[in-house]
Formats: sequence, structure tokens, C-alpha cells
Amino acid sequence: MEKRTELEKLGEFGLIKKIKNGVKIYNDSTYCGIGDDAAVINSGELQTIVSSDMLLEGVHFDLSYTPLKHLGYKAVAVNVSDIAAMNAIPEQITVNIGLSNRFSQEAVEEIYEGINIACKNYKVDLIGGDTTSSRSGLVISITAIGKARKEEITYRNTAKKGDIICATGDLGAAYLGLQILEREKQEFLANPEMQPDLEKNEYLVMRQLKPEARMDVIYDFRELKLKPTSMIDISDGLASELLHLTKGAVLGAVIYEDKLPIEQNTARVATEEFNLPLATCMLNGGEDYELLFTVDQGDYEKIKNHPDISFIGYMQEADKGVKMVTRAEQLIDVTAQGFKHF
Ligand code: ADP
Ligand code: MG
Repeated sequence: MEKRTELEKLGEFGLIKKIKNGVKIYNDSTYCGIGDDAAVINSGELQTIVSSDMLLEGVHFDLSYTPLKHLGYKAVAVNVSDIAAMNAIPEQITVNIGLSNRFSQEAVEEIYEGINIACKNYKVDLIGGDTTSSRSGLVISITAIGKARKEEITYRNTAKKGDIICATGDLGAAYLGLQILEREKQEFLANPEMQPDLEKNEYLVMRQLKPEARMDVIYDFRELKLKPTSMIDISDGLASELLHLTKGAVLGAVIYEDKLPIEQNTARVATEEFNLPLATCMLNGGEDYELLFTVDQGDYEKIKNHPDISFIGYMQEADKGVKMVTRAEQLIDVTAQGFKHF
């Protein structure tokens, strides 16, 4: 009988590892292939950074509450975020789109309105793509291309023991935004007369529907002459991304629950409306598209007053594990419960 392994057993990261093991590199210009937020191509003085992300209807978004304009914006932002995570500057994107006949010209124009606004905000040029029909809902796949000098590029596996772990912005809001949207959808299905009340939770809902890539922080790094020792963007949740940084560098880490950044509405909604532990939302929520990075202790002075960077812990020896000191001063293991694709 032919061998059959369920994807569920392998998991997304296991599958990517399998693909990577089967890939042979034929060109010297391929400097960094599968395994980081983006690939790095040697192209003279400036290196080229390439990253792709695909958004699927029913998996990544639900059109019953996702405005097409926001969806177009988000599809660009999540790709720009991967270029940011390499400490590079995005310059071009290509857009592949799969459409069913359910979509009108106007609907497609709305998606591209969002894409064009994102292009303007992030100063990237839409240079091509592909259009096909789809029988299983809307598909948007974007590739972003960026540039950086070789010595500027940051990877996932280059942190050192003692480095300070930093996070931008606040965490958990996008996850709670999704919980709110799902709740309002269920309430609407049960009672279509009801108008959803999303206004008071606008911040959380917008964090889910229209996230921003933190290019502002990348420009700040350049001004401050700071290069993180490692970096990744927070798409699957802080815990999962921290494990990528520690595994890559063969290190452990300790983070402190009371240092994790949460915005006050996020904290209120998590506690009062969903009865969810705040730490779970911040560690495992995902889709915040903030940056998680490490800096040398000697560079702390450069960013200690940055209003949008939190210092959440430090890297330690691998055998000490990846831990969190809770508010109750307990030491617990950090484990990934990020988004499961299979
Ligand atoms: P991110 O969450 O930053 O988008 P992923 O977990 O999607 O990163 O991808 C990790 C790495 O695996 C990246 O280098 C990506 O290009 C690569 N990768 C993901 N899927 C595939 C695939 N189907 N074929 C080849 N490489 C892939
Ligand atoms: Mg990434």
C-alpha cells in the first residue's frame, strides 16, 4: 500500500521543513532561501528581499464581515511586514488573485482600492501579477520585493545570550477583534434585525481587519543606527515567534508577563467580555503584525525611550528553556499554540 502521512501530523512547520529538505540551490545569488520571514538574493551592493503570503476566503478571512477594501490593504500589509522583519525596505509587489463569478467589477475595484492605498502608505509599486478564476472562494496571494544592504539584514537565528527581547506596539488586539467579529456574526445570523455594535470596539476590530506593517520602526532603527541582533514579525503569536528566535539561535529565553504590552481596551474586552486570560491573548493571539526582535545590551540606551517598544525579557542558555515569569512570580514554559492550518 502506498504510504500516506496526514498533514495534520506533520504540521505547517514540519511540512515546510520537508519541502526545504527536498530543495537544491543552483545559484550563488541565492543567499538565504526557505526558513526566514523572507528570502535574500545577492544582487550587487544592495540585496533583494522576497516574501510571499496568501490569503484564502474561509481560512484567513470571512467576507460576511471583511470589507474588500480592508482585505486588499491587509494583503499588502502582511507582506510588507515580512520585509520589515528582515530590516529591509519594500519597493515592489506582485498580486495574484483568484476570483469566482460571484465577484463584480466593482468588487474587484474595491480590493484594488485597498491595495493601492497600502502601496501609497508603504511606498511600494504594484508591478504585476496573475488573474484566474477560482471555484473555492476568493484567493489573494502577494509577493513583496525589498532592498537592504547586506549588513543591515536581520535574520531569525542570530540572537546572542543576554540580548534583550523587545516587542513593538501592543499584542492580542487582532485576536480579540476577530472574536468580536465572530460574535457579532453569530448574533446577526440568529437575529438579522440586530445591527452589530462594532464602534466601541473599533480599535480591536481594525487591528484584525486592517493591520499595519511596522515600517515606521524600521525607519527609526536606521535613524538610531540600531541593528537588532535578530527579528521576526508577529503573525502567529508572540509565543510561536519567540520559539522561532530561540530555536534558530539555539538559545533559551525568559520573558515577564507584566512587561508584555497590552492596550487597555484589549485587556477590558478579554477579561470582561470573553473571560480570557490576558497572557493567552498576547502569547497565542496572532495577526498583530508587530515586530519581535532582540538587541545587544549595549544598544539599550538607543531605544530605551522609544514610546512604542517594550522590553519583555532576555535570551539565555538553551538548557534553561523558554520561560515566562507570571505576575504571580511562577516560572512557566512558553509553548506555541499558534494558528493551525491542518
Ligand atoms: P511567515 O509566517 O513569516 O510568512 P512562513 O511560516 O509562512 O513565514 O514561512 C517560513 C518559511 O518557509 C519562509 O522562508 C517561506 O518562504 C517558506 N515557505 C512557506 N511555504 C512554502 C512553500 N509552499 N514552498 C516553499 N517555501 C515555503
Ligand atoms: Mg513573518
